[in-house]
Amino acid sequence: MAERITGHTELISLLAYPIRHSSSPAMHNEAFAYLGLDYAYLAFEVDNDSLEDAIKGMRAMKFVGSNISMPNKTVVGQYLDKLSPASQMTGAVNTIINHDGVLEGTITDGVGFMEALKDNDIDVIGKKMTIVGAGGAATAIQIQAALDGVAEISIFNIKDKFYDVGVDTVRKINENTACKAQMFDLADTEALRREIADSVLLVNATGVGMKPLEGKTWLPDASYLRPDLIVTDTIYSPAETEFLRIAKQVGCKTMNGMGMMLFQGAAAFKLWTGKDMPIEHMKEVLGISYD
Ligand code: NAD
Repeated sequence: MAERITGHTELISLLAYPIRHSSSPAMHNEAFAYLGLDYAYLAFEVDNDSLEDAIKGMRAMKFVGSNISMPNKTVVGQYLDKLSPASQMTGAVNTIINHDGVLEGTITDGVGFMEALKDNDIDVIGKKMTIVGAGGAATAIQIQAALDGVAEISIFNIKDKFYDVGVDTVRKINENTACKAQMFDLADTEALRREIADSVLLVNATGVGMKPLEGKTWLPDASYLRPDLIVTDTIYSPAETEFLRIAKQVGCKTMNGMGMMLFQGAAAFKLWTGKDMPIEHMKEVLGISYD
């Protein structure tokens, strides 16, 4: 008889829509099986309309916790009992931990990105980075980078609904950390060239480069890059975006979003199980190798 799932197995969910493409269920279930932990991780198609009921269900059925992804990250906080400082600062939640009925929200995307840099021997502490994006992932990265000691962060975004989020992030960073943050319109290509020129790291934290914008990039052309610039993308599918393809051609060291995915998951895994995710095994299974 199959023994993997028993009457004792504890459940962890992923609440998002769309979500069937996610690598998280395979990643967490592989780690549970590898370590012999009696948990199961399942994805549920939950959007803003069904989110409150789903959280009530989590409470009633005593789930150990959950991951939260789009479009629920900035909405779920109102249904929880408390928020970590990182979630309070970013206004977003990607992980829920059930402490005996008290649901706490936190966000591990920023930690995940910074850990992935470290794992790939990329050092930005005390240095300057330029990052394009002001949505959930971008904000988490910007706040964590500032808290970790990045000296300067220049943020670019198009003038959509996320632009003001970026302005607010700049204010929070400048008021609460030693990091100097600035906000720019992505249409200001002169500023983009100037800010990239004295940065050690350039990050894409927008959805440009993945479906439905696969094959596209906001980078005007390769002349904005130089070989000693480190270029990273938060996107992991496709593994090589147009942005990273151009950077590789210039000779830049590059990193895609797979490492961030692994380390944000590892941080949540530790919060739920108290155990370290087997990182080297997971890198092998997920096919993560850095350039
Ligand atoms: P979001 O919807 O909160 O933010 C989207 C961002 O993209 C905004 O800054 C928006 O202005 C920008 N944008 C959208 N269309 C644009 C265009 N045409 N030109 C320029 N900018 C545009 O989304 P999010 O959750 O922050 O996700 C952003 C990216 O981060 C996605 O590619 C997602 O896959 C990635 N992500 C990766 C991980 C990981 O673990 N690797 C985790 C979370 C998010």
